[in-house]
Amino acid sequence: MTMNKELIDKLKLELQAEQKRLTGLLERTGKHLYRRDEPYSADFAEQAVEVENNQVVEALDAEGKTTLNEIKLALTRIDSGTYGDCTKCGSEIAAERLSAIPHVRLCIDCAKKQ
Ligand SMILES: [Zn+2]
Repeated sequence: MTMNKELIDKLKLELQAEQKRLTGLLERTGKHLYRRDEPYSADFAEQAVEVENNQVVEALDAEGKTTLNEIKLALTRIDSGTYGDCTKCGSEIAAERLSAIPHVRLCIDCAKKQ
């Protein structure tokens, strides 16, 4: 059974919007992390805050990159007509699951086994 085209179109728009948002976010985190080469503040308390901020930004950056990559793969699957199929077992991913996480690539059973 092929997926509902209206749903795919809707999710595609969501994926593209998220792709745009993440690209903007990664531009900011990238700039922030690049600037990190500047010396830390002399003040020890301020240093601690800066290090903590960098860790938060690094986590955001890494997470953003991973998600952005998943989104690109999902958009490729939409174009090739395999969107909505589990990339592991090939069975159809539930529409509710795709609506909740449009870039998801595993069906619920495979996700549970991981
Ligand atoms: Zn599966």
